Amino acid sequence: MPALSEVIAALDGLWPRERAEQWDAVGTVCGDVGNPAAQVDRVLFAVDPVQEIADEAVELGAQLLVTHHPLYLRGTTTVAADTFKGRVVHTLIRHGVALHVAHTNADTADPGVSDALAGALDLRVLRPLVPDVTDAAGRRGLGRICEPPRPMRLSELTEWAADRLPVTAQGIRAAGDPDRMIRTLAVCGGSGDGLFEEVRAAGADAYLTADLRHHPASEAREHSPLALLDAAHFATEWPWCEQAAAQLDEISDRHGWGLRTHVSRTVTDPWTAHAASHGAVAAAAAHPSDPDRSASNDITTGAPN
Ligand SMILES: [Zn+2]
Repeated sequence: MPALSEVIAALDGLWPRERAEQWDAVGTVCGDVGNPAAQVDRVLFAVDPVQEIADEAVELGAQLLVTHHPLYLRGTTTVAADTFKGRVVHTLIRHGVALHVAHTNADTADPGVSDALAGALDLRVLRPLVPDVTDAAGRRGLGRICEPPRPMRLSELTEWAADRLPVTAQGIRAAGDPDRMIRTLAVCGGSGDGLFEEVRAAGADAYLTADLRHHPASEAREHSPLALLDAAHFATEWPWCEQAAAQLDEISDRHGWGLRTHVSRTVTDPWTAHAASHGAVAAAAAHPSDPDRSASNDITTGAPN
């Protein structure tokens, strides 16, 4: 059984901490790393270090939890167990579970979060969307430019993504001409609405990411015919957990560690329900030629419903 410090060193090899963004908080959050008696047999991978996941690690008997999102991104003055993050820390320490975070250093890695997203969607990765200039091989960087297995209409690609990404309440939202042919697709796991300029410069027909807000999305739509696909943040990053677990499995096999890695299947997307809208305003918009309905096309009519 390897020492915790050996496994952490292997994780640092996959996702070097110095490659994280300046504002990020990656690396080991808790764990008795300096203690050679602290050994690892089971490792759990998850997107979010929330209480449900900490409990899952305990139940599993894991000694190490690896998450994509940091527990603390900013400073804190307390880990009291009556705060939700403090309770996570207490749960983990009480049960001898270390927590290690690979966030923006995993986003830009080779393979990284967007490679896993592309893999889940059966896309062929061509190159990074925003290359890391320090990588001579040209494989590291943020986001990926990809090709679908065959050119697809936006409507088909939307269903394709909905069939392949983890199930969330949101599903997949799309913006653009449903018949637009998608031959090149940019993807970025997590919140990617700061990268529209790079996506346009890459000549992509569509862009799949998460957390697309009204103004950036609206402006991108006005700017060019680029189609947009918006998935739940969790759904775009969860595939990384499987990729990361496979990477650690490979290291474990090489060293004869016999680690047992697990990927949490708990959906920690904060949104839990979704209703397709069918109010008066939407009905009017959907039937603009219907004289009875177009009377209520004014957004002030029927809006209070
Ligand atoms: Zn994220």
